[in-house]
Amino acid sequence: MKLKPSLLEPGENHFSYSSANDKWLGQIADRLSAQGHPAKGPLKARMKVTKLEPDYVFAGELEYSVECTCDRCAEQFVLPISHRFELAFARANKAVSAQDFQEQSDQLDIEWFVGDDIDLLPLFEEQFMLSLPYKTLCRATCKGICQQCGKNLNEGDCGCATAAKDSPFKIIETLKV
Ligand SMILES: [Zn+2]
Ligand SMILES: [Zn+2]
Repeated sequence: MKLKPSLLEPGENHFSYSSANDKWLGQIADRLSAQGHPAKGPLKARMKVTKLEPDYVFAGELEYSVECTCDRCAEQFVLPISHRFELAFARANKAVSAQDFQEQSDQLDIEWFVGDDIDLLPLFEEQFMLSLPYKTLCRATCKGICQQCGKNLNEGDCGCATAAKDSPFKIIETLKV
């Protein structure tokens, strides 16, 4: 999916995409699945591009849901994700090498493009990857699973509590005697 900056209106331009209609977003959905994060429902993205020659400011928002496995209790659950990003693009001057652009863009958070094409696929792919949670918990208060019997403690107490009293502190008490 290529965006042609020369075709943009001065000021704000609004775009809306969904993997239900836009094949290139479907490709990103496939990559999310390959990384163990299958999407539940379509990937949706909105983007506002503000043309401020020679720069273009992209403000985007991703909305989708992903199937996750809880890091604590191993239950499957669906996590809704909403992620915003902002990027600036500038037209590269051919006199300067690509490496110089890269060094400048690392410092300034500016992406460079040559010619009249901005490829949206790598841009959005990176943002979808960044939007994935680092740690996934089914709920902030997830109690996890019992280390002894393996029961999901969110579903209730398992009765292993008495065994848990055999903690290292018990041994220390014994040593004191
Ligand atoms: Zn959990
Ligand atoms: Zn237990």
